[in-house]
Amino acid sequence: MYLKSIEIQGFKSFANKIKFEFHDGITGIVGPNGSGKSNVADAVRWVLGEQKIKQLRGSKMEDVIFSGTEMRKPLGFAFVAITLDNSDKKLPIDYDEVTVSRRLFRSGESEYMINGTVCRLKDVHELFYDTGIGKEGYSIIGQGQIDKILSGKPEERRELFDEAAGIVKFKRRKNETLKK
Ligand code: ATP
Ligand code: MG
Repeated sequence: MYLKSIEIQGFKSFANKIKFEFHDGITGIVGPNGSGKSNVADAVRWVLGEQKIKQLRGSKMEDVIFSGTEMRKPLGFAFVAITLDNSDKKLPIDYDEVTVSRRLFRSGESEYMINGTVCRLKDVHELFYDTGIGKEGYSIIGQGQIDKILSGKPEERRELFDEAAGIVKFKRRKNETLKK
């Protein structure tokens, strides 16, 4: 499984639709300060279901929608889609390619999709449990996160091992069953 592409439109500094395509090996994103490098990582966090606006460096969720510049009017929605190669079926879904998208309007209305079908945030979370990719996974390591892991509480560190061991989904299901 690997990340094939990220499509962004109206998210933060990306007013125009843009598609990043990734190939084998390592890809670096370079650019001057403020050019939007971190916004690409924010876009990935966001499409994976990030609900905490602080994690996305904003103060309210609407802040992820392109807010305009001197030359350009603000936009009405933000859209991000990531496409993953799933030919090894690491994601529990019977498709060789999986596209997850999220759209948010200024009204607050929002929508997640998996391969073009509207779904719940929960479905997005479940798709990525135990893959290390989910928003709680370790596929995106932000500034300061290593320190947090090293100095974190044992229970927090345990979560990282649970994810790596592939037992998060069982723990979540057990907790849900116990709640019922
Ligand atoms: P650095 O090298 O300093 O880390 P960077 O390339 O990571 O910079 P980002 O933090 O990704 O830069 O981008 C910051 C830019 O994104 C700022 O110019 C900011 O105005 C712009 N930006 C953030 N949110 C929005 C928004 N909602 N609408 C328009 N522009 C936005
Ligand atoms: Mg940055």
